[in-house]
Amino acid sequence: MNFDNFEIWFVTGAQLLYGGETVKQVDAHSMAMVDGLNRSGQLPFKIVYKGTVNSQAEISAQFRQANNSKSCVGIITWMHTFSPAKMWIDALKSLRQPLLHLHTQFQREIPWSEIDMDYMNLNQSAHGDREFGYIMSRMRKPRKVVVGYWEDADVQERIAVWMRVCAAWKDSQGMKILRFGDNMNNVAVTDGDKVEAEMVFNYHVDYCPVGDLAKAVAAVTDTQIDKLIAGYESLYTFADEAGKGGSKHNQVREAARIEIALRRVLEEANAKAFTTNFDDLHGLNQLAGLASQRLMNDGYGFGAEGDWKTAALLRTMKVMANGLSGGTSFLEDYVYHFKGKGAILQAHMLEVCPSITAEKPRLEVHPLGIGGKADPARLVFTAHEGAGVAATIVDMGNRFRLIVNEVDCVPPEADLPKLPVARAFWTPRPNLQTAARAWIQAGGTHHTSFSYDLTAEYFEDYAELADVELLKINAETTIDSFKHDLRLNEVYYMLNRAVTAR
Ligand code: MN
Repeated sequence: MNFDNFEIWFVTGAQLLYGGETVKQVDAHSMAMVDGLNRSGQLPFKIVYKGTVNSQAEISAQFRQANNSKSCVGIITWMHTFSPAKMWIDALKSLRQPLLHLHTQFQREIPWSEIDMDYMNLNQSAHGDREFGYIMSRMRKPRKVVVGYWEDADVQERIAVWMRVCAAWKDSQGMKILRFGDNMNNVAVTDGDKVEAEMVFNYHVDYCPVGDLAKAVAAVTDTQIDKLIAGYESLYTFADEAGKGGSKHNQVREAARIEIALRRVLEEANAKAFTTNFDDLHGLNQLAGLASQRLMNDGYGFGAEGDWKTAALLRTMKVMANGLSGGTSFLEDYVYHFKGKGAILQAHMLEVCPSITAEKPRLEVHPLGIGGKADPARLVFTAHEGAGVAATIVDMGNRFRLIVNEVDCVPPEADLPKLPVARAFWTPRPNLQTAARAWIQAGGTHHTSFSYDLTAEYFEDYAELADVELLKINAETTIDSFKHDLRLNEVYYMLNRAVTAR
């Protein structure tokens, strides 16, 4: 996973009305601006200036190139002068790239003693960008609008967030998610319409028979396992039973065997995310707990019990957070703590990504209690303190709904000596009662994709790109306004489709 091959194209709008000299100045200003943005050190990869466009033909040609480019993952537009927006219609009709409309101006302040009509004609973003905004709105084009002076850290941060979302969007186009086993029997919220998901998000959900994984497991050699165990020893503290000579060391070796096989099957399938099901482990010694934890840590998306929507979202969030250090993981709402603002103990049977802890994880082996298999190995740790976001996507039948809750991870009030799984402990904003009520009213899953590195803004940008519903639960949420949004959205997503379908 890296951003090195990605670029954002910067296209400046103008027209020839003001003469060639003006266009030259627009070009020079645009170049200086893109150069400044690239040198700011705030952006995750580079922006490439693609020139000033002055006519419908130039705009359409530029966007066609962007649509077909392998490296371009998004377009930033800025109207330096007035750029009559009918010139943009043809290009926008076929636009297949994410678009950010940067509403800025080359100079920060008005040069009071110098300003004349030439200056006014050259620097007319204030009205040129409104003309462009109109045609985007008229055509119902999803986009991000960023307003402010381009040298300001706040503006650059808004652009950087969107760029990370563009990279994640690009990554998910044609992404393969491999399911080992089906969704857990009778579970509704983790299931959904895979055809619709492919149409909306462009990712593809495939099935891999557990028997094929078992065959790969059988092909793993002792030498491969020895090498991987040595790797574990350098990263984790082994519990007595799990270490060499320990009563359950063989279960750690079996877990390593599964990891090697799972990794190979995913690589051969070119899959970026996967799901497992504890009830469907035919031919496997144990649930792939440790393997799932370590694969998530390497950037794979994961969903338990066949939850492919969560696996896809987690991968996408991993890409958004690429290179950031807070951590991103699959989690599940487990047990409540009704004290003060309330809190939720987050965990899973085994599968929590060690990227969310600052501790050295402990490698332990314990019985699972369900699934009827041998005792699985797992990493045990507690997530570090800090603010983060928990997100999920549910299938509402006529659309996908993305729900994001801002949460604050705090240290558990006491040690948990008898709890043999990794965990996080958080208070959702604004408090447990309102957050859980809103989440449940919206139909949110018990599974979430969680990240310390992302904010609600990432999901806003992502929802624009995918053109899906977004519901945010945060410090400002009240149940009255949230229920109002739910009702409005029901109508909006019915009518909006009628308006935009052509
Ligand atoms: Mn679960």
